[in-house]
Amino acid sequence: MMQRASDWVLGTDPKQRLRLGRSLAAAGVFLVCLMIEFAAVLLGMADRTHAFAMGGLILTGLLVTYVALRSGWSLKWNDPALTMPQMVFAIVLISFAYYINPLNRGMVTILASLVLVFGAFILSPRRCRQLGWFAVAALGCVMLYCSLRLPLLFPPRLEAFNFLLTALVLPVIAALAGQLSALRFQQQAQKKELREALEKVRMLATHDELTGLPNRRQVMELLAHEERRALRQRASLCSCLIDIDHFKRVNDTLGHQAGDEALQRFSSILASALRAGDVLARWGGEEFVLLLPATPVDEAASVIERLRVRCEDPANWVGRPELRVTFSAGLSAHKDGESMQQVIARADAALYRAKSEGRNRLVIG
Ligand code: GH3
Ligand code: MG
Ligand code: MG
Repeated sequence: MMQRASDWVLGTDPKQRLRLGRSLAAAGVFLVCLMIEFAAVLLGMADRTHAFAMGGLILTGLLVTYVALRSGWSLKWNDPALTMPQMVFAIVLISFAYYINPLNRGMVTILASLVLVFGAFILSPRRCRQLGWFAVAALGCVMLYCSLRLPLLFPPRLEAFNFLLTALVLPVIAALAGQLSALRFQQQAQKKELREALEKVRMLATHDELTGLPNRRQVMELLAHEERRALRQRASLCSCLIDIDHFKRVNDTLGHQAGDEALQRFSSILASALRAGDVLARWGGEEFVLLLPATPVDEAASVIERLRVRCEDPANWVGRPELRVTFSAGLSAHKDGESMQQVIARADAALYRAKSEGRNRLVIG
C-alpha cells in the first residue's frame, strides 16, 4: 500500500524518484519558511498580503517543478533534475522575502549562502559561480528598489552597507562551492578511469587477446570452482578438449597471420553455437577446452557433434574458405571423488585417440 502510494507520488524510475525526492525535501524547507512568515503575521510582525503573495509564489513554483519532474517533461533537458531553475527560484524567493519584511534582512545572506553550498554538491563549478553572481544581482536589485521606494523601512545607507557585504560574501562562497564541485568532478573522473583500468586489467588477465575467449588461467579457476560445486551438488559436469586438425598446415601454407584469423573464426563459430552456461576457453595454441556444467555425457556428446558439423560446413567459412579447419575432441564426464585434473587427463587421452583414429571426430574417455 505504502509502496503504491510512493510510486504514485514519485513514479517508478529510480533516477527520477531521487530527483523528485530532493525537490520535495526543498519544498519542505520552503513550507517551513512560509509557516514562520505566517507566524510573524499572527504576531503582528509581518504583512498578511505579502505573506499570501509569498505563499502563492512558493506553491506555484513547487507545483510547476513537481509537474515538470513527475510528468517526465524535464527529461528532455540537459539537467533533468532542473537543479539550476530550482536554485534560481530559491534565490528569487529569498530576494522576495527581503522585500516583504525588513526583519528578514539578517537571514537573507545566510539562506542564499545555504543555497550556494547545496549547489557545490549538484552543480558544475561554472554554474556555482554563475549562481553566486545571480544571487548578488537579485539581492542588489531588491535592495536598490527597497531603498528607493521604501527609504523609511530600508534606509539607503544601511542598504548600501548590506549590499557591499552581500557582494563580498556571496561570490566568495560561490567560488568555494565551485572549487568543491570541481573536486567532486575530478574525483568522479578518477573513479571512472580507475574502474575502466581495473576492468581492462581484469580482462587482460582472464581472457585471450586473439580470440577474446577466457584463457587457461581463468579456466583453472573455473575448474576449481566446478570441482567444489560438483562435490556439493553431485551435478554431472563434462569437460572436452578440442584440438584443431593439421593446423600447422594452415600456418605453413597461408602464413601465421592467416593462422591467427583461422583461430578467430574457429572460436567464433564454436562460441556462437553454445548454450548459456557452457564455457569455451583457449587452452593454449590451437587447443580449446569446453566445459559443460550440469550436462549428462550423451547430451555433451551431441553438443560437440553439432559443433563438429558446423565447423565442417563450408557455409560457416564464407569469405575465407581456405581457412576452413576441422577439430578432434576428447570428452570426459566428472566421476564421484575424481579431481578435475583427472577429468582433464582422461579428456586428453581421449583426444589423443581421436587424433590417432583419423581426426575430425569425438572420442569419449
Ligand atoms: P594435429 O592434427 O595433430 O593437431 O596437427 P597440428 O598441426 O594441429 O598440431 P601441431 O601441434 O603440430 O601444430 C600446432 C600448430 O599451431 C603449431 C603452432 O605454430 C600453431 N599455433 C599455435 N598457436 C598459434 C597462434 O596463436 N597463432 C598461429 N597462427 N598459430 C598457432
Ligand atoms: Mg595441439
Ligand atoms: Mg592440432
